[in-house]
Amino acid sequence: MIDIPSRMYDAFSSSIMKSSRGRSGFYPSSISIENPDKEIIGTCLRQEYYRWFNTAPTEDYNPEFGIISLSGEALHEVITSFIRNHPLETGLVLLKDEHSFFDQENMLSGRIDLFLLDTKTDTLLGCDIKTVSDYAAGTCISEPRIKDLLQCALYLDQYQKSAHSGNKEINEWAILYFARSDSYYKLKKYPHGSPFKAMWQFSVSFEDDYVVVTDQFGNKTSYTWITKETLYTRFKVLYKYIKAKQLPPRDYEHSYSEEKIAGLYKQGKIALKKDRLTIDKWLEKGAAEGELGLNMGDFSCRFCDFSSLCWSNNPESFTKKSTDLYDLRNRKIIVPKKPLSTVPKDRDDYI
Ligand code: SF4
Repeated sequence: MIDIPSRMYDAFSSSIMKSSRGRSGFYPSSISIENPDKEIIGTCLRQEYYRWFNTAPTEDYNPEFGIISLSGEALHEVITSFIRNHPLETGLVLLKDEHSFFDQENMLSGRIDLFLLDTKTDTLLGCDIKTVSDYAAGTCISEPRIKDLLQCALYLDQYQKSAHSGNKEINEWAILYFARSDSYYKLKKYPHGSPFKAMWQFSVSFEDDYVVVTDQFGNKTSYTWITKETLYTRFKVLYKYIKAKQLPPRDYEHSYSEEKIAGLYKQGKIALKKDRLTIDKWLEKGAAEGELGLNMGDFSCRFCDFSSLCWSNNPESFTKKSTDLYDLRNRKIIVPKKPLSTVPKDRDDYI
């Protein structure tokens, strides 16, 4: 038998596929923010720093993620293609898909999913399609994941800023969630206002300069701490570390202390039942130090390409290969517009 899954698995594991994962520059998907509880949401700055300097990953690539990512891309295309081919039935005209933008000031480059015109209301609308796993679907039905929300708010800000005066305004960016696999049956019990079970939407807009999210029932939630300014704060902090070639502190933890796990348990933040049972038993037995036997940590570290390096005794032991910055108008490598002296001295200046 010619084993096609194994051939694909091997292809995802090959050095060519590994090298094609390299990244440079700042991308909207790398966005992060500090919330009012001083927690970081989104990408770790140290991880971005490693990426910026093209650090070789220290972890093996998991081919499972490769095939999941491919299926996500295919679903994107299915949804895009449906909208593209049904303007009369949907009343939505696809003006542009995969549209690129570049923000010289923040050294951000990105590509949006869909740019639409609603012919029923003569309204411009951006749209980001997010395909989610069974588990993730349950976490983004009543409100969007903050990282998705940040990304869409950033897109909206970028398109609002770049629109020529006199042109039609764009005031809304949709997050369209689509659940993969057999989520349909699990999702039936969660109302989200969409006629589909496996597809639902939130709309991101600005009120003054902070973010407001509207769900499909019309309920609005204000995120006053996510503003047109704070969207870019941590990109600026990262830039400062890169310019100084100084490794940023870790934003996440690979292994929680027993004390932290107990605290999360009390706050009802332990997701898996089997972990809750283990903690129950440990607490019942007097919570002896070193006896919990649970290895828990932040998702970001567990799936980080640089985890071993980051948590080693010498997390700076890598070769820094610099990344070029381009001025798209002049097609040449430039010194960033903003001199280092205008970047605040430390990250606290931004918060
Ligand atoms: S291992 Fe964790 S703290 Fe270190 S770079 Fe990766 S995400 Fe950041």
